[in-house]
Amino acid sequence: MMEHPSRRSFLGMGSVALATAALAGLTANAQEKASTQKAEHDHSTSDPGPENKPLLDENPNSNTPPPTDHGDVVPIWYSFDLVKKRVEEGGWTHEVTQRVLPSSKDIAGVQMRLTAGSYREMHWHTADEWAYVLYGNARVTVMQPDGTMFIGDVGEGDLWIFPAGHPHSIQGLGPDGTEFLLVFNQGDFSEDGTMLVSEWVAHTPPEVLAKNTGLDKSVFAHTPGAPLYIFPGNLPNSLEQDKAEIGGEQVAPKQQYTFHLRSMKPTSTSEAGEVRIVDSRNFPVSKHVAAAMLIIKPGHMRELHWHPNTSEWQYYIAGKGRMTVFFPVDNARTMDFSANDVGYVPSNAPHYFENTGDTDLVVLELFASDEFMDVSLNQWLRRVPSEMLKAHLNIDKQMATKIPAEKQFLV
Ligand code: MN
Ligand code: MN
Repeated sequence: MMEHPSRRSFLGMGSVALATAALAGLTANAQEKASTQKAEHDHSTSDPGPENKPLLDENPNSNTPPPTDHGDVVPIWYSFDLVKKRVEEGGWTHEVTQRVLPSSKDIAGVQMRLTAGSYREMHWHTADEWAYVLYGNARVTVMQPDGTMFIGDVGEGDLWIFPAGHPHSIQGLGPDGTEFLLVFNQGDFSEDGTMLVSEWVAHTPPEVLAKNTGLDKSVFAHTPGAPLYIFPGNLPNSLEQDKAEIGGEQVAPKQQYTFHLRSMKPTSTSEAGEVRIVDSRNFPVSKHVAAAMLIIKPGHMRELHWHPNTSEWQYYIAGKGRMTVFFPVDNARTMDFSANDVGYVPSNAPHYFENTGDTDLVVLELFASDEFMDVSLNQWLRRVPSEMLKAHLNIDKQMATKIPAEKQFLV
């Protein structure tokens, strides 16, 4: 199939060549559209060979695209249910990084389960960590470089931020521990490559540890020789007891590192659903990750839009959806999404997604940026003079007034 010549290459062509090229392009596109439409009405799409039925049922639009799709964009779909779990005593973890979703260079995602009392070992890393609690309860700690120590408890729908290089810990609380999503502002980040306190100690001579801590050398005969990573523990004291024990207000930072996202007042509400936006403007420690949590009612959709500042990494929490991403030249790709799937949209690529199920579609949009920013197609169409709109899309002034003039997020 012929590639469309770019607009730039049009400029260098003579008028005859230009007309021929334009016609060839239009014809090729029209032929493909016509043949796809035709195929739906005869035997052409039948597939009498073997089929992976459960996969087809999950992703019908990916397998047989709508006629408006054309060409291909970068990979836009993956699922946590396709990646292996690293199971340890006390929980497990698995990750969707650039290794399996190569197009996602800005963000990687990890899921983790900690049973009640179990720890994710004291550690730190080179990326910022943004987390959303999917289930249960956890206690988190994070120390600022100035030595002040934040300790907080989180439940389902809450989030936390651990800035790059800040040492932190996570522990599952009662009654049944926790499961959470971690988002890092590095596409190739791996939760297997973090700096662990146990590993550092194991690789430091006992004499040096003794000299550094002032403890007797014999103490370090009992430290673990292998990384702990995830391991079982006892349930902690109450939050107040733990805070008091380490020194109370005197060692507490002024900043909050946890945030109630699910229970915050919606940024936008309509019959189509609810939007909650959290970024450095309402959660100051979130300097490098911005997020929107969308609850889209059945039959409604996220409006046609794009993000001018960065790519988008999505996590589908509940429901069923379908997203289409457009990308020049002439490429559009549609895929279906279910709970626990990951979506990706390149920076500036226009897109929308619809609730295709009969329950609420709940989605997190994540951005490696200080602020959430999007551009609404509807708003743009309403801000240009009517003659300009007529000239481009043949929509007259009277019709145009029906297009929402303000950003809706959901329609
Ligand atoms: Mn971490
Ligand atoms: Mn978006």
